[in-house]
Amino acid sequence: MPSPRLTREAIVEAESKQAEVIAALATAGQDDLADRMTNCQRCRLWRGDGSRWLDRCRLGGCWSCRRPVIRAWWRALTEWAEPDATLLAVSLGDDRIAGMRTLRRGLRDVRDRAAYRRPAWREVAFGGIISGTTAMVLAVHPHVPQAKMLTVLRQRWSDTVVLNLIGNEPSWIMDTDTAVRLSILRRGIEPLRAVVMPQGVPQLPPPPEEPYLEPMPMLF
Ligand SMILES: [Zn+2]
Repeated sequence: MPSPRLTREAIVEAESKQAEVIAALATAGQDDLADRMTNCQRCRLWRGDGSRWLDRCRLGGCWSCRRPVIRAWWRALTEWAEPDATLLAVSLGDDRIAGMRTLRRGLRDVRDRAAYRRPAWREVAFGGIISGTTAMVLAVHPHVPQAKMLTVLRQRWSDTVVLNLIGNEPSWIMDTDTAVRLSILRRGIEPLRAVVMPQGVPQLPPPPEEPYLEPMPMLF
């Protein structure tokens, strides 16, 4: 399913932020990444949205490469979660990348501690992804009532908010600092995901295909 088209204003805004990210990468001495992202942007501006795979920079800090990946991951997570899963928003703090890492460990820790005393918590699982300054987290809790789960989570994340599962999806818009640091990590958006499977269940497999039309040649 292709991503819905953006308004012209949204694209202009995103491309202007992209220029800031490219400049910051060059300032940081990351000329190869700056060049890749510049080429990605140039091809987009010449051809519109349908850039060829080879022209894509695939950097997590590139809005145009990040957006379809975030949407594909979110689709995979919502399909995995039960229909009665709870959607939560948890704020990440100033450092989103460190915040996501802390959240991933924290969710596992909280679940494991609760499961030690109450076996129903063994089945509790989480799948989260960055959304601006927060993480959107799908909580699967088949035998733990929502109110009880929230009480436990809010002991660690007091600002946890419940969102409507229908009609909410993570924002692909990202601040320049996070976009730059994410690009330098060269791991796509993976550092900005947090998946905690039920105890004894292997990790969620990635979505079957990256949301592009052509296979990825290994160029680097
Ligand atoms: Zn790109």
